[in-house]
Amino acid sequence: MSSTSETALKPGSPIQVFYSGNRGHLPTIDRAKGVYLWDTTGKKYLDASSGPVITNIGHGNERVLQAMNEQAAKVCYASRAVFENQPNRNLAKKLVGLAGPSFDQAFLVGSGSEATEAAIKLARQYAVAKGEVQRTIVLARNPSYHGATLGAAAVTGDPQSDAVFEPVMRIMPKVPAPFSYRLPEGVSVEEHALDCAKQLDQQITETGAENVLAFIMEPVGGLATGGLVAPDCYYKAIRDICTKHGVLLIFDEVMSGAGRTGTFLSAEHWPDARPDMVTLAKGVAAGYTPLAAVLTPNYIVEPIVASGGFLHGHTYSANPLSCAVAVAVVDEMLRMDLMSNARDVGAYLMEGLRKIADQSAIIGDVRGKGMLMAVELVADKASKALIPAEHRAVYRLLEIGIDNGLLLYTRKTAGGKFGEWVMVTPPLTLTHEEADE
Ligand code: PLP
Repeated sequence: MSSTSETALKPGSPIQVFYSGNRGHLPTIDRAKGVYLWDTTGKKYLDASSGPVITNIGHGNERVLQAMNEQAAKVCYASRAVFENQPNRNLAKKLVGLAGPSFDQAFLVGSGSEATEAAIKLARQYAVAKGEVQRTIVLARNPSYHGATLGAAAVTGDPQSDAVFEPVMRIMPKVPAPFSYRLPEGVSVEEHALDCAKQLDQQITETGAENVLAFIMEPVGGLATGGLVAPDCYYKAIRDICTKHGVLLIFDEVMSGAGRTGTFLSAEHWPDARPDMVTLAKGVAAGYTPLAAVLTPNYIVEPIVASGGFLHGHTYSANPLSCAVAVAVVDEMLRMDLMSNARDVGAYLMEGLRKIADQSAIIGDVRGKGMLMAVELVADKASKALIPAEHRAVYRLLEIGIDNGLLLYTRKTAGGKFGEWVMVTPPLTLTHEEADE
């Protein structure tokens, strides 16, 4: 939104908070197929980001549309106070089956933010059911993003980028994310990551372990950290620290889950650091319907059920239409073997981006895993100096992309003390030829 005359809202126009403030308008979407979208002027765009990392199986998948129509014709909605529904059962079974042995239950909601809220409430109710009522604090990393609702914002870090909601983000304590691009002098990537893990240990001790419910983090970073992947030793260290203090470890896989990094959960890359809970969203229904999940083991759910059941839910939780669509999306992901493709074409794309970075004056770093990557922009590669915010570098890249029919995903605020990057997260269906393009 902007108050300048050229961007003033017309009566009845949608409230657009993203790029229209700078461009004066956004193109209007008409249709999409595979990795391409067309606006109402007929202009074609290559989706290099899957929107905000969601359209994992590409647009207009015929099998998913058929499943959507079939379920819609049967029943779109029925009150969960009265009915269970089979698509809910099917999806929960499918998700826990793919997630592996330490997950037994899936609680289904409508968005990644709702999944964060549900995971926090599950952790809280689990603690209360065990008689540990003083546990109320959820620790998170700085920077991080876990959602737009207020509970999720409280565990989100990076107040510099969002002065408006800083008072909410300040509520829960944060520990540093283990960035490795700019390291303190003479310190190795591993040493720095282990130091970040040690700060989690210290923060838990300072807060009082008996007061801490959980630690939430993205195993492979999304927009907040630009595809950040820590060295292996970090994951084992934070798992051990959480276990030592009786603190639940929650992996936010809203962006990194559902096959995006080449495995169904990105947690699979670090088998000795299994989390206690995982949240999924985005790629699970790939933009066809709103759908998200919290995966939990029975040892968390059983005491909650014994104490009367989970005191949480939304009108749209586990609705039959969204669940049936998500089942079809996951089936398509498996049928097309998109996890292998994410590994294969992801590695090819990463290699290509690194070649471009070698010749670029402003691409300082290329990082990520599978098809979850980011390129970090700098003012000077030797000093790794940040680009001053007034240049609006990532914004400009986004606009140049839109003008040239290439869709990218980046932060809505320029600058920031941690650096700035553009996500490279195409649909998992991307071919080598489309990667070249
Ligand atoms: N967690 C992560 C890691 C995310 O990237 C996002 C959204 O981008 C969320 C949570 C919130 O998800 P949603 O926008 O579906 O509420």
